[in-house]
Amino acid sequence: MYREATNNEIKKLEEIKGKCLSCQKCPLGKTRTNIVFSGGIPNHKLMLIGEAPGYYEDQKGEPFVGKAGQLLDKIFASVGLSRQKDVYICNTLKCRPPDNRDPLPEEKEACREYLDAQIEILQPRIILLCGRVAVNSLLNTTQGITKLRGRWFEGPYMSKMMPIFHPSYLLRNDSREKGSPKWLMWQDIQEIKRVYSQMD
Ligand code: SF4
Repeated sequence: MYREATNNEIKKLEEIKGKCLSCQKCPLGKTRTNIVFSGGIPNHKLMLIGEAPGYYEDQKGEPFVGKAGQLLDKIFASVGLSRQKDVYICNTLKCRPPDNRDPLPEEKEACREYLDAQIEILQPRIILLCGRVAVNSLLNTTQGITKLRGRWFEGPYMSKMMPIFHPSYLLRNDSREKGSPKWLMWQDIQEIKRVYSQMD
């Protein structure tokens, strides 16, 4: 059955967030406007890991805002899921890389302990790796997401991990024809919902 995080787990997450708020472990600490620690609802069933905050996320301190966030919400809603009730959202980096450049290896390494702590506290049963940066970090691979999306991988704490396209990529590829990124995303979210529903 769906289970929200306990008060104790939420307190532990808040403690990690507190560390991030004053973190200067990498140079992004100097240029960020806000820490983007998490969004959605802390729970033990479904976590989505994105890349790094963009301009709007940095301004608001929330992950997946703007058009990409709206599309992500629509994708979840298409199978009856929502970030308000069902999904905990976080990123590989908590601070925005300037000009939305890719995170540097040393930045990812510096920030990894916070992501690892989020995973350890919640131990979600399904982890969605949203976009190339999250896939490369969590699966420790340089393979492209097009090859990896839609497949289940063994994740930490006996979770199941699936790479999925980033909504920004879907916004740049508008076709819905069979085999297009949007069509593939539709197949993937249905498979995710199928496994999600079996995990009660
Ligand atoms: S990106 Fe991560 S490691 Fe770098 S300053 Fe921000 S919180 Fe610290």
